[in-house]
Amino acid sequence: MAFRLVGFLGAVALALASSPVAAGKSKSRRVPNMPRGWSWPANPAMVDAGKRCLETLGEHEVAYEGGSAKKVNTPIVVPTMELAGIRLEPTWRKGPFVLDCHLALALHELAPELKELGVSALRFSTIHDHRYVKRNGRKTNILSRHAIGLAMDIFEVRLHDGRVLKVKQSYADEEVLPAVERVFAGSERFRTPLTPGNDPKGHDDHFHIEARMPLRSTRTR
Ligand SMILES: [Zn+2]
Repeated sequence: MAFRLVGFLGAVALALASSPVAAGKSKSRRVPNMPRGWSWPANPAMVDAGKRCLETLGEHEVAYEGGSAKKVNTPIVVPTMELAGIRLEPTWRKGPFVLDCHLALALHELAPELKELGVSALRFSTIHDHRYVKRNGRKTNILSRHAIGLAMDIFEVRLHDGRVLKVKQSYADEEVLPAVERVFAGSERFRTPLTPGNDPKGHDDHFHIEARMPLRSTRTR
């Protein structure tokens, strides 16, 4: 009996000894994928950027409500799911959809160019989601920008004539989809989107778009 107890304690000691090693290992593999200057909880520069974003959204007369989501700097909900005439339509999830103000503002500013291409709606699967980046089908320790409310996965695009183009099926032969990609790629408000064109392995069926959150030091103001 005493022997078995000693054996048990030995196993506990081993488990305790090995856990800090494992924790240290996973820490060293963590690669930052956040906007420059981003931290959590939000720092003053982020709070400042959020306030400015909401002010600008208000100036554009976008009706929004406050939302709540962990790690989203400026969480809002746009009840109409429409920004300057471009609708955001979920492909299957039910709302409300929380997003960071900076994504809403960036989409609002890009909307006229999208409308010019004949686009009436961006059909998405996910906006905010606390998830990690996948590489070659494997989960990494890199926090996805979906987790901070700045990214959106667009699977389909609806046109003014009612047609719905699926990225997977139509990217190669419907000119409008690469044109939509170029609008996002050419905008300073967005990082380069991931698409079947530049990432056929990971994004053969959707555009992953990410808004920037420009942070300026509050000290230099
Ligand atoms: Zn994505």
